[in-house]
Amino acid sequence: MARDYHSPSSLGYKCDRAWYYAYVGHMREPDVDYRDIESGKIKAVKDPKGQLQCSYKQRGASLGTGLHNTLEAYYSGGQPDWIWKPGQVAQSGLHLLPRAECCTAIEIEAEIGYEPSGETDPRKPTKVMRAYGTRYAGRRDLTVQMQPSEFDRLGIANIANGWLLLDYKSTADIVQYAKTAADLTDDIAACAYALDVMVKHGLSILPCRWVYFESKEIRRALAVDFTITLQRAREVLERYSLKAKHLDSLNVIQEAAQNLDACCDYSGRPGVIGCSYHQEKGGPCNARRTTGDRLSALEGSNKKMAVMSEEMKAQFAAARSQLSSGAAPMIVSLPAAGTPPMTRGEILPDNGGAVAAPKPRAPRAPKAPTTIAEKMQDTAVVEAPVVAVVSAENLDAIASLSADLAQARVLLEGSNNALAEAEAELATAAQKCDEARLANEVATTAVSAILADIRTAAS
Ligand code: SF4
Repeated sequence: MARDYHSPSSLGYKCDRAWYYAYVGHMREPDVDYRDIESGKIKAVKDPKGQLQCSYKQRGASLGTGLHNTLEAYYSGGQPDWIWKPGQVAQSGLHLLPRAECCTAIEIEAEIGYEPSGETDPRKPTKVMRAYGTRYAGRRDLTVQMQPSEFDRLGIANIANGWLLLDYKSTADIVQYAKTAADLTDDIAACAYALDVMVKHGLSILPCRWVYFESKEIRRALAVDFTITLQRAREVLERYSLKAKHLDSLNVIQEAAQNLDACCDYSGRPGVIGCSYHQEKGGPCNARRTTGDRLSALEGSNKKMAVMSEEMKAQFAAARSQLSSGAAPMIVSLPAAGTPPMTRGEILPDNGGAVAAPKPRAPRAPKAPTTIAEKMQDTAVVEAPVVAVVSAENLDAIASLSADLAQARVLLEGSNNALAEAEAELATAAQKCDEARLANEVATTAVSAILADIRTAAS
């Protein structure tokens, strides 16, 4: 069933069945206001009747929305609430974001595309971007044109006439879930947003920064920088348009393939179901995963499994030293009182479509580990908490030992039965032995008596 438009992130689903549940079946949990969670009106824990009023996934999503709202208020010159938890989480990464007063243009939550979406509901997208026959609708978190000194402060090359594309991501665990620069240059959402900026501002290359905010006990943030060219963005969108056409061709749920390798994503524990559509989570999907499947998924998973890449490590180290040297304040200075508020889309200078001469391309970020061997190598230099990493050899050994164990269990059961039978036979034999002994004693006594009688008769 063809959709009017796709959100770029919806095409990132690894499992067609999960996509079908979410976007055709509309089986998505309703949005929750984080203030209702904070005030206790909605509980993210089980109530006395055992009912979960708000799932952990809803809670995470509402915290992310709160973080976006806080930063939107900051960049639009409003009064951001830095006290509530989403505000505190946002503060942990403010030093990685441009200071509003150093920007000459700010685009907040700008819709992508030029084409009218045809929607009449004001809550729905008003514009769409058409690329390779697919219509995309979405919003870019933040796009700025800023002063060269701000590029220097953030450690980003100013290669696109001062423009920079940013995105905020709240996550429970940066080390486990933050994408690398290599992941992001192949990411449909990053490429769709970057293409929109480049087309609208006449650019052929664009620096991007995705800021990951950790929302659990630890308050920390990580900036992942990457560059997208016009050509790269087009290549990725062309590839994903094929996926969009395939998804649009699905008419019934049975046509949507199950991807067992995606069932455990985002559970935080390899081999444990994380997909909310699985029956184990109360959903409708009956995907069956054997222990072997789970082990295979563990090996094939592209998750980082607590392995911090060199790139991520370097970024954390740089941020740490920057903070300890006092070079960058933890909280950027807020606009002075009385500063007129900036409005969405304000101060967009006419650059005449000029494109800054691209500087030589920065060396490519180290490739994220993709094989077990690479992950093992990476683990050797990691300072992060070490979580067990299973090597291919160990997987083979585990599979072989599991088969041996099953066989040994069958043998053990057989020998237990044989032992029980033998013990029963032994008991019977012992009883027979006692009876025979008794009969023997009786017979011996009888023989003795008869012999005595014979001797008496003979004498
Ligand atoms: S449980 Fe697995 S197969 Fe089923 S929808 Fe989720 S990811 Fe897909």
